[in-house]
Amino acid sequence: MMDKNYDHKKFEDSINKQWSEAGVFTAKRDPSKKPYTIVLPPPNASGKMHTGNVLMIAIEDILIRWHRMRGDEVLWIPGTDHAGTETQITFEKELKKQGKSRFNYNRKDFYEEIWKFVQNNKNLVEGQIKKMGASVDWTRNKFTLDPDVVAMVSKTFEKLNNDGLIYRGDYMVNYCPNCGTTYADIEIDHIERKDPLYYLKYGPFVLATVRPETKFGDTAVAVHPDDPRYKEWIGKEINVEGLNGPFKLKVIGDEYVDPKFGSGVVKVTPAHDPNDYEMGKRHNLPSIKVVGLNGKLTQVAGKYAGMTVFTARKTVVEDLEAKGLIEKIDENYVHSVSVCKAGHDVEPTILPNWFIKIDSLRAPALEAVKNGEVKIFPKWRTLTYVRWMENMHDWAISRQNIWGIRIPAWYKAVENPELVISFINSEGSVVTGQLSELLKNNKLTEVKKGLQTLIAPAGAKYIISTNEPGEDYIQETDTFDTWFSSGQWPLATLGYPDSEDFKYFYPTNVLETGWEILSKWVSRMVMLGIYLTGKPPFKAVYLHGIVRALDGRKMSKSLGNVINPEEYIEEFGVDALRMGLVAGTATGKDFSFPRDRIIGYKKFANKLWNIARFIEPIRASEVEMTKNGDDQWILTELEVVARKANQYLEKFRFAEAAELIYEFVWHKFADVYLEKVKDRREEASGTLHKVLSDSLKLCHPFMPFVTEAVWQEIFPQEEGLLISQRWPFSN
Ligand SMILES: [Zn+2]
Repeated sequence: MMDKNYDHKKFEDSINKQWSEAGVFTAKRDPSKKPYTIVLPPPNASGKMHTGNVLMIAIEDILIRWHRMRGDEVLWIPGTDHAGTETQITFEKELKKQGKSRFNYNRKDFYEEIWKFVQNNKNLVEGQIKKMGASVDWTRNKFTLDPDVVAMVSKTFEKLNNDGLIYRGDYMVNYCPNCGTTYADIEIDHIERKDPLYYLKYGPFVLATVRPETKFGDTAVAVHPDDPRYKEWIGKEINVEGLNGPFKLKVIGDEYVDPKFGSGVVKVTPAHDPNDYEMGKRHNLPSIKVVGLNGKLTQVAGKYAGMTVFTARKTVVEDLEAKGLIEKIDENYVHSVSVCKAGHDVEPTILPNWFIKIDSLRAPALEAVKNGEVKIFPKWRTLTYVRWMENMHDWAISRQNIWGIRIPAWYKAVENPELVISFINSEGSVVTGQLSELLKNNKLTEVKKGLQTLIAPAGAKYIISTNEPGEDYIQETDTFDTWFSSGQWPLATLGYPDSEDFKYFYPTNVLETGWEILSKWVSRMVMLGIYLTGKPPFKAVYLHGIVRALDGRKMSKSLGNVINPEEYIEEFGVDALRMGLVAGTATGKDFSFPRDRIIGYKKFANKLWNIARFIEPIRASEVEMTKNGDDQWILTELEVVARKANQYLEKFRFAEAAELIYEFVWHKFADVYLEKVKDRREEASGTLHKVLSDSLKLCHPFMPFVTEAVWQEIFPQEEGLLISQRWPFSN
């Protein structure tokens, strides 16, 4: 006898175990079958599953189970991402609790510490993927820092370099001269502070600035293009009396300028301000570096060269006042200042970073989508991809992180005396300086042993090599942007270039992910996939909307509206949570967390259970089915629904397929047909069993646990697991 109600807690783990023991998730490479492959977008290895991950897994598992039931050789590859910056920051927070920071470690030890930290957490997210019933092939599980992935990604970089597509170029970073390191945007704190605002005389203008010491790096003054006070000046040059003699500056018009700030005129210092840097790019202005990596003014500052920023500001202001070049000083100006974790002022600085030339890579990637070789669903998202591709700039792929794949570039010590290096010396103290200076008191082997970071100047000589070229070389300390490694994920997970898996399963069929990483991730995979193999890595892209909070707002810790999927799994079961979220995706747009639907689908799971309880006592007739009009009707309806659901799934219309099957099972099979056959159960037993069996199959990709549980209650053991049955009417 079946229990009165379906209790998800009683079944989920044991059914998962049965699937796993039966090995049904493991792909075989059967040459007589059609491969069907999906690569799971790798969640953060040290993160926790969020509602977006649940939706992603639900949709992909529908596709995978559906294709498995249609007789394809399916492969769904799981994996996790090292999530460079995010993970390193999380780890550093942990370190802080122990009173330590990254500066207590050399690069190698610090990396190993994060490795241990991540290994401990990795099991958590993998356990959550399992809990969701994801029928991924765990024998092929990958991590973005697995040695074979690192080797493959490094080799791609080498190939790009050999093809002339790699160069070092300027990039604006948050640099702290005090700490001697750069910080990611999210590591920077923005504080409100009162600083003097100086109104400086600049030729015919007066302009306001809090940083008069950077005036030696000015390459223009800017006004708003529609500001009637200054319109006529745009494009002209002004003569400015400076502290190192008179000079000329161009006047540019740029929308960025706020006419209400100060006098409506600003100086443009592209080398030391992110907004000025962008303006500089828009107007082709040169960047002149005023503050060096040591935090002191450079030679361009003339007699102020060598002063710290703080001293220089004071001295410059005194000298400007003496020359009558300051109109007024607003002592009560409050503004937002960027500071590092230690509270030092951050100096926006242009540093050489590694770039990929994009033009030859993006042209075929744009074409592949335009000519339909890669189809994007929903179709209206295609435009986002096309726009992004058309406006793409060269890709800065280096990050000043330790946690990541280290760039395989090497600097020969004797050829690069100007490398700026931080290392822990034999006494355990951190030393920063130019390599040539450091080598006066330290051996190169010691510098390399304690190495924390290096900054190579623009003209540094380097070679690219996946192996250490010699003992007198130091490796770049920057790591790759995580999108560079995850941009090769379909290849790395399939063992590109030589493996049997790669030959059989590539290109994959569908890439399914949230729309917000279409530009960052999907575009990169298409570019690198075509570059390396000549083929796009997938034939279709399905983009789901973002799950918002119950109140429709974006989930965020600060709003306190983050939904923990585990609580819903506990209360309503995996099936209800999965199906509820899938039903929410109907339009492909963002949607509020569909709590009511989840409750509704928990009831539906119970409905399936109760239909089975009705049928359970009736033995399936061994003899030919006796059919009357009602039987004929439900069998016809069943076929219509199965075929229609197939069509919906082929077009990635998951919510419609789910709704259709739900309507059939609840309102036609249960409400109408079961009522009608109440008095002729024995006679209708063949039809009852057939419709139940096919209904379970249709529901299985959407609600794998309850369907498998009911299947095993009703159908004899020799039929095997539901997961391995054939999808009804699939031919
Ligand atoms: Zn600092």
